[in-house]
Amino acid sequence: MTKITIAKGDGIGPEIMDATLAVLKAAGANLEFEEIQVGEKVYLSGNTSGIPKEAWDAIKTNKIFLKAPITTPQGGGYKSLNVTMRKTLGLFANVRPCVSYHPFVNTKHPVMDMVIIRENEEDLYAGIEHQQTEDVVQCLKLTSVSGSERIIRYAFEFARAHNRKKVTCFSKDNILKQTDGLFRRIFNEVAKEYPDLENEHWIIDIGSAKIANKPEQFDVVVMQNLYGDIVSDIAAEISGSVGLGGSSNIGESVAMFEAIHGSAPDIAGKNIANPSGLLNAAVMMLYHVGEPKTAAMIHNAWLKTLEEGLHTADIYSENLSKKRLGTKEFAEAVIANLGKLPNKLKAKDESQLSSVEVPIVRFKASKKKELLGVDVFVDAQVKPNEIGEKLIQASGNTQLKLEMITNRGVKVFPDGFEETFCTNHWRCRFKEANGKIITMSEVIELLNALHTANIDIIKTENLYQFDGVKAFSLGQGQ
Ligand code: NAD
Repeated sequence: MTKITIAKGDGIGPEIMDATLAVLKAAGANLEFEEIQVGEKVYLSGNTSGIPKEAWDAIKTNKIFLKAPITTPQGGGYKSLNVTMRKTLGLFANVRPCVSYHPFVNTKHPVMDMVIIRENEEDLYAGIEHQQTEDVVQCLKLTSVSGSERIIRYAFEFARAHNRKKVTCFSKDNILKQTDGLFRRIFNEVAKEYPDLENEHWIIDIGSAKIANKPEQFDVVVMQNLYGDIVSDIAAEISGSVGLGGSSNIGESVAMFEAIHGSAPDIAGKNIANPSGLLNAAVMMLYHVGEPKTAAMIHNAWLKTLEEGLHTADIYSENLSKKRLGTKEFAEAVIANLGKLPNKLKAKDESQLSSVEVPIVRFKASKKKELLGVDVFVDAQVKPNEIGEKLIQASGNTQLKLEMITNRGVKVFPDGFEETFCTNHWRCRFKEANGKIITMSEVIELLNALHTANIDIIKTENLYQFDGVKAFSLGQGQ
């Protein structure tokens, strides 16, 4: 008997969880359930993390977690508990299969069977945001060698284990040369170790357009966190409904299974939500815990139910559906089909691999790190030339010289364009005049001089080279 943690979540969460548990129990899954409280009720009780300590303890002890969606307050307020859980528990790989069920569920894309593997811990989802001038807010995009390598290796291992043919990488490395550039370089390196699998890269914008238009061209697709979040919702929706997709979040010791969609407050409490996303997540969980027989039985009964035209409202259509069922009644229909196989849709079998090994990170970080300068960020309501001249004067007696100033990334000093719109947020790049290696003392000396001249320093970013390769972006127009 495997003891798993469950959370019924918010919105439609309790309804779809009850439906899923009813199917799991009827199928004789060898599971024991420990329920925890997380989400809205916990936030509103005054616990700003949305999760009490006992809940963390249960998740860490049981190691397998089936979670219904949780409502995240938008804009301000509480941090997303979903993101916190994925990161705190080291659930680095978010696996999201997006499959169409033609001709039983309406879809623009009859041939669609792709798996999106989304990096789950890094990128803008570090959630490190600041406001340091009146006009501008910022967010740090963090990408690591180790995090990128692990998710990319996982994507290749997943593809191999599931007899897939191709792994595609999406990035925006033409613009984000450091962060996305790193992700793509690692993809190219790792791909060499899997000559049995095809590999390709698309820039995220055209890649996403291709998924929307010709998803049949894709097999396993790996991408960073924010891109994966967006693209996987699109892929799930165009397959038929976002309500169909299940996903797993895989870590070294803990794994969490959930629907792709959110808590759908607009339809909560009406017994109309489609429980399929969470049910499919539960099927992934059963494979993961080594119950492939039960996993296949539930999935095949679910396929059979779709084939019979017994559909929830989100996928109901006059021409394809026979009956519009509520959440509970849909689960009962699946239960009635346990033991049956679909006639046309591809049945799952017991031989599907239980889980993919978490890959070991092998790439070594670069050895020699040298400081070349500093970007000093300044808040000032001035013209570019004024700030440029003030900085040159203020830094006159220091070792570091002003090389350029950018505003929102574009060079505005020296030789800026009058047409360029400027905010009050300036990046001012200082280096040793002859490009020599410097020390932190020289940076501190510069900062002291600027501070003494009443310059409003809001933050600094050091400019390094690693093994002789410069590790910072140029200004646009530099
Ligand atoms: P959503 O996925 O909850 O809903 C989007 C649309 O899809 C809605 O019209 C909804 O009715 C429909 N829909 C979603 N799931 C459905 C289902 N099972 N059956 C039928 N229709 C379904 O997205 P949203 O409205 O942007 O987000 C609502 C809340 O969920 C937000 O607080 C968000 O932060 C949260 N959220 C949580 C998770 C998670 O827990 N993993 C994921 C995404 C969003």
